[in-house]
Amino acid sequence: SDGLESLLDGQLAYYRARAPEYDEVYGERGFRSLTDLLDELPVGGDVLELACGTGQWTVRLAGRAQSLTAVDGAPEMLDIARRRVEAAGLTATFEQHELFSWRPQARYDTVFFAFWLSHVPPQRFAAFWAAVAGAVRPGGRVVFVDTDAAERLTERAAPGDRATVLRRLKDGSEHEVVKLFHDAAGLAADLGKLGWTAQVDPADGGFIRGVATLTDR
Ligand code: SAM
Repeated sequence: SDGLESLLDGQLAYYRARAPEYDEVYGERGFRSLTDLLDELPVGGDVLELACGTGQWTVRLAGRAQSLTAVDGAPEMLDIARRRVEAAGLTATFEQHELFSWRPQARYDTVFFAFWLSHVPPQRFAAFWAAVAGAVRPGGRVVFVDTDAAERLTERAAPGDRATVLRRLKDGSEHEVVKLFHDAAGLAADLGKLGWTAQVDPADGGFIRGVATLTDR
């Protein structure tokens, strides 16, 4: 093996450990107003959110969805997200799934993910989108937000050629995580090859936003 499994296990372990300090990024770089981006995106009906994290987007989605199912692999993240949604007087169903082995059990009008795609390694990109296709109803769509290619400047590349970066937690521990620096045009073209019609655009603040539908539906 090329160590990809252990890299992905380590990535999830990093986010589990980071859960208590994760929300701090939402106080930086205009991340808080970033969730305003959702207002401009076509989100509605029965919604599935993947890699919901601490629920920064979940709480916004819950206000617009007919129903909302939020998935993450980290129980520590799910606990924080659940509390955030409850505190807002809203409802969502939370499910713990490891997303590289996840296969959807239902179909949705909207599948949403924020800051997840850049953590999907190239070797798992096609399989991830194939799984997502199984979660989309005819006429449904995938909506995503992520960092853009300029994000490279703010990260420390890990040694080697695995498209990974090094992240440090408050306890001083260092973690290697997958981080792809997708640009809007390249990502739309990659999705086109996988059977999606995708519109990916730069968004203010160094982000990209995408909407994808299955080309043959
Ligand atoms: N969407 C949230 C946001 O925008 O704030 C969180 C994004 S955070 C960068 C990535 C999330 O992916 C974390 O919540 C982490 O627990 C989750 N995650 C990492 N690896 C995972 C895996 N293999 N399966 C499921 N979730 C995973």
